[in-house]
Amino acid sequence: MTDTATIQTEQLIIAGQRVNAIDGETFDVINPATDQVIARVAKAGLPDVEAAVAAARKAFDEGPWPRMAPYERGRIIQKIADRIRERADELAAVESANTGKPMARAKGEILSGAVVFDYYAGAGDKFFGESIPLGDKVLDVTLREPVGVAAQIVPWNFPFSMATWKVGPALAAGCCVILKPASLTPLTALLLGEICYEAGVPEGVVNVLPGPGGLIGEALSAHPLVDKVAFTGETTTGAAILRAASDTIKKVSLELGGKSPNIVFADADLAKAAASAVPAGFGNSGQTCTARTRVFVSNSDHDNFLQQLVDHTARYSVGDPTAAGVQMGPLISQAQKDRVNNYVQIGKDEGAELAYGGMTPADQPVGAFLQPTIFGAVSNDMRIAREEIFGPVISVIPFKDEADVIREANANDYGLAGSVWTRDIGRALRVAKGLRTGMVAINSNGGAGVFGPFGGYKHSGLGRELGMHGLELYTEVKNIYIDLED
Ligand code: NDP
Repeated sequence: MTDTATIQTEQLIIAGQRVNAIDGETFDVINPATDQVIARVAKAGLPDVEAAVAAARKAFDEGPWPRMAPYERGRIIQKIADRIRERADELAAVESANTGKPMARAKGEILSGAVVFDYYAGAGDKFFGESIPLGDKVLDVTLREPVGVAAQIVPWNFPFSMATWKVGPALAAGCCVILKPASLTPLTALLLGEICYEAGVPEGVVNVLPGPGGLIGEALSAHPLVDKVAFTGETTTGAAILRAASDTIKKVSLELGGKSPNIVFADADLAKAAASAVPAGFGNSGQTCTARTRVFVSNSDHDNFLQQLVDHTARYSVGDPTAAGVQMGPLISQAQKDRVNNYVQIGKDEGAELAYGGMTPADQPVGAFLQPTIFGAVSNDMRIAREEIFGPVISVIPFKDEADVIREANANDYGLAGSVWTRDIGRALRVAKGLRTGMVAINSNGGAGVFGPFGGYKHSGLGRELGMHGLELYTEVKNIYIDLED
């Protein structure tokens, strides 16, 4: 039984005000580590979409935000970063309770979100147009103008981070936003909306609408008064959004799924690669679009590498997210656990070798916990190697040679990220160039964070978030041609 006294209630944010849904509906939010209800949240419906779009439209068409000097906007965006740091402990506690992330990881994600606003606070006045040489009699210049009202639809795996990746660059460009968090994880997005107003964004610039994606996400994607939709989530949802946005020729950017290869050559530092493969596959309970879920190892190293991976995984601490030292909490929900369990069964049925895990941890009978799971001797055409499982499951796949592994790594509909481990610089760069993915790490499973572009090839998405590329998604280019003749 949930103690009703501990259930917080949350409202929508429209035009800078906390409001109930117009039809008064609410939904419950659950802590996946305990299966308890922790919050009751206003559930936006279509009338709330209209109210939020009207507020954002008014703020964009008539308000000061898009008309302000980018430097002045930057000062407010910097205050958002500062306020996130001031409220970091509170944000981390909410994020951990809502997602089951270990507390230290949640705190790290909140602080990284502050860095996103640091970055974009200083970026808006450094992203500008060009002059085009057309001779003495003409001056031709381009302007970068805000794209307008942006609907931003985010998933549950990194609720706060994904919201910062979307809101930060949009605000820097001068856009007004309607942020739609995932129904499983609306709480820190609402806090981010609150913080934006504490920092001084004008009325209507940031609106936050928790509610069902199939209804309000779709309505925002199709709405004639919304200029852009930015989405992170599943590939089929991205395709539905593209369809919904097509009649109004909206600008669309999509960050979708992945099945990222982690390629370990025989000449690599195998111990380092094995240690790194564990957090790269199991961090955030494997619910990461860039998770390195296909570990390619040369034929001769397969057994040795698999054993090293198993040894590291046995030491990976799974349990109560509030306990110190825990590295992996539960999955996001019982439904997600069922989905992942189903893939574990598929892997066994396909004949892969279950080398570790695959069960509910004995000491975690309550909550959506699952052991980190490793399959060895996987073939690249098995479903567990082809499909995004979105849980803590790594497939170890043996390969023959360089050409073979590039072909196998690319033989997948996704193309988000990849890693290559080798001491041969030529090989590292050949493989990096050969991979059809938006991001490649060499002798690492890391990435550039906010400072570099993030996004994928093929079914992994459209456009690049973060870095200065992130501002391209929220700006239009205007060309001005000036005849200088008398
Ligand atoms: P979805 O892609 O369905 O959800 C992501 C966001 O889109 C949520 O805010 C959701 O709202 C919203 N949404 C859902 N349907 C629509 C629609 N028709 N139009 C507009 N917005 C919509 O992912 P799920 O949360 O359902 O997760 C399912 C699977 O997706 C996971 O198991 C995983 O494989 C994958 N996934 C991948 C992610 C990635 O980063 N690559 C992130 C999250 C999930 P609501 O929550 O209300 O449904």
